[in-house]
Amino acid sequence: MSPATDPRITEVLAKWWGFDQLRPLQSEAIQSALDGRDSLVVMPTGGGKSLCYQLPPLVGESTDVVISPLVALMKDQVDALEAIGYPAAAIYSGVSQEERQQIRDRLAAGELRLLFTAPERLVNTGLLDLLAQVGVKRFSIDEAHCISQWGHDFRPEYRQLALLRDRFPAASLHAFTATATPRVREDIASQLRLRSPDVLVGTFDRPNLCYRVVPRTERIQQTLEILGRHAGEASIVYCISRKETERLAARLAAEGLLARPYHAGLDQKERHKTQEAFARETIDVVVATVAFGMGIDRSNVRLVLHTSLPKSLEAYQQETGRAGRDGLAAECVLLYSSADVFSWEALVRKSAEESDLDVDEIERLIAGQTEHLHAIRRYAQATRCRHAALSEYFGQAYGTEPCGACDVCLGETESLPDATVTAQKIISCVARVGERFGVRHVCEVLRGAKTEGIQRHGHDRLSTFGLLAALDQRAAENLTHQLLDQGLLGRSGGDRPVVMLNERSWEVLRGTRTVVLSEPRSGKAKAAKADVDDWKGVDRDLFERLRKWRRQVAEGRGKPAWTIFDDKSLRAIAREKPTSPAALLRVKGIGEKRLADFGAAILDLVAGKEPAE
Ligand code: ADP
Ligand code: ZN
Repeated sequence: MSPATDPRITEVLAKWWGFDQLRPLQSEAIQSALDGRDSLVVMPTGGGKSLCYQLPPLVGESTDVVISPLVALMKDQVDALEAIGYPAAAIYSGVSQEERQQIRDRLAAGELRLLFTAPERLVNTGLLDLLAQVGVKRFSIDEAHCISQWGHDFRPEYRQLALLRDRFPAASLHAFTATATPRVREDIASQLRLRSPDVLVGTFDRPNLCYRVVPRTERIQQTLEILGRHAGEASIVYCISRKETERLAARLAAEGLLARPYHAGLDQKERHKTQEAFARETIDVVVATVAFGMGIDRSNVRLVLHTSLPKSLEAYQQETGRAGRDGLAAECVLLYSSADVFSWEALVRKSAEESDLDVDEIERLIAGQTEHLHAIRRYAQATRCRHAALSEYFGQAYGTEPCGACDVCLGETESLPDATVTAQKIISCVARVGERFGVRHVCEVLRGAKTEGIQRHGHDRLSTFGLLAALDQRAAENLTHQLLDQGLLGRSGGDRPVVMLNERSWEVLRGTRTVVLSEPRSGKAKAAKADVDDWKGVDRDLFERLRKWRRQVAEGRGKPAWTIFDDKSLRAIAREKPTSPAALLRVKGIGEKRLADFGAAILDLVAGKEPAE
C-alpha cells in the first residue's frame, strides 16, 4: 500500500473535486510529481490518469504543462477543470490570436495552474521561452506511447519532445499511457530520457464492465435488441465501414432511437455537430467507425457494441475503455463471426503489400498483425472468463473467477450436447482432405456444399462429405476454430494456412479425449452484479429529473454534460436525497465550487420543486 497520504493532498482533493480518497496508483504518481522524480504511469483508460497531473500544481501553486496529441481532449479537460474553478487553459492551432495572448498574459502573471498544449505547438512557437521564463518545473506527457514506433499510434511530432530534457534540465518529466507492452514502455523512457523514473503500472481489469461475445447472426436485429437494454442511455456502436455506419444509424433512427453516424469521411462540421450532440446528451447513440472515440470523454457511456471484430485486443481494450468511465456498470458486447477474421487477414495482406516497405518488412508486418488478429479471435471463441482472458493478455493474473460480469461466468453460454462426436467428424474430415486445406474448405466439405473446389478435388466423394449438413457455414467454422483454439487441431503458418492433425487430434479420434465445445446463446443477458449494486436505493425518477436538468445546464453553457456533473454523483444524490448544503457536500463529486454553483438548484430538485437558475 501507499504511504500515508500527504494531508495537503487530501484537502485539495476534497475541496476541489469532492473526492474522499485517491486510488492507490494515483497517490504514488502524485507523490513522484511532488517530489520532482520522473515517472512513467501506465493506467488503463478510465483509471484516473488526469488527476495525477491536475492535482500537484494546486499543492505547490506551480504552473505545470501537459502535452497531449488530441485537441478535443484538451478542450474537454479545460471545460471540466473550469467547472470546478480550476485555472487551466489550452493552446492549440484552433485558438485565436487574441485568446492566445490572453493565455500568455495569464501564464506570465502566474495565474495558471495547468497549460495544455500539443507537441508541435510547444516546439515551434517560442512558447518554450515563455515557459522557461515562468520557471515551469513539471511536464506531463499524455498518450506517451505516441512517441514509440512499437506503439499502436505512433506520431512523429512526439519525437521532438526529447528536447524538453535539454531545455529544462531541472524539470521533472511524467509520462502517461494506457499501452502496456514492456517494449513500448522502455521506448518511452529512453526517447524522453527519463532519469530512473518511478514506473507505476495499474490494473488492467475494469470490474464495472460486463463483457459479452455473441455469435453474429443478424446484425441489425441483434443491435436493436442489445440497444433495447439501454434505452435513453449513451451507447457507441462500432462498425468497420463508413457505409455500414450510415445504413445502421438510419435504421436505428427509423426505429425511433436518437442515433447518428460518425466516420472520417463526413465533413468536419457534421462530425463536430455529432460529437457535441453526444456530449450534451441530445443524442444517445453514435454509430461509428473507430475514428470516433479519440477525444470522446462522455463518462456515462453504458454500452459499447462492436458489430464486427476489432483488429486486436489492444484496440478492443481501448474502444471498450470508453464505456463506464464514471465507474458505474456498463456493458461491452462483441458480435462475432469468423468471417471477420478472414476479411481482416485479406485486408492486412493487401495493405502491407501496397505499402512501400521491403519484402522482409512486409512479412514482419503481416506476421505481427496476424498475431494480434488471432489473439482477439481466441478471446472471442474461448469459453473462459472474459475478465481473466483480458487481464492475462495484458500480463496480469486475475484472481476472482467467476467474475459475475461476463457471459461465461453468468452462465449465458451453453455447451454443445454432442461435442466429442462433432469434433471427431471435423477432425476426420481434415484427415480425409489430406491436411492440405483451410478451415473454409474443410467446413464446406462437412456441410456437403457443391463448390467448384470440392468438385475439382473430388471431395464430394469423401466419406465425410455432408456429415454436418445440418450446420450452416458459420457455425461449422466457429466449431472448427474452437478446436484450433483448444489445440485439438493444428494450423500451418504462411499466407494460406491449412488445418492439420496433431497428437491431440488422434486422441479425440481414438476416443481417449473428450471435447467441450460451446454454443453461445444469443439474446438472454442477465444483469451483472455491479449493475444491480449501482442502482441500489436510487430514486430513478429523481435521477431522470437530475439528468434533464443537467442537459439544460449543459445546453445553456455550451459544455459537455458530464463536465457539469457525472452520473455517479447524480445517482448518489438520487440515492441519498440530501436536504442541506452540508449534506450535499458529503456527496462524492461535489466540492465547494459545484456546491456554490448548483447547490440551490439541486436541493430544489430533491425537494420536488422546479430548480431556480
Ligand atoms: P483516464 O484519463 O485514465 O482515462 P480519467 O482521468 O478520465 O481517466 O478518470 C476516469 C474517471 O474516474 C473520471 O470520471 C474521474 O472523475 C474519476 N476519478 C478519478 N480519480 C478519482 C478518485 N480518486 N475518486 C473518485 N473518482 C475518481
Ligand atoms: Zn467472468
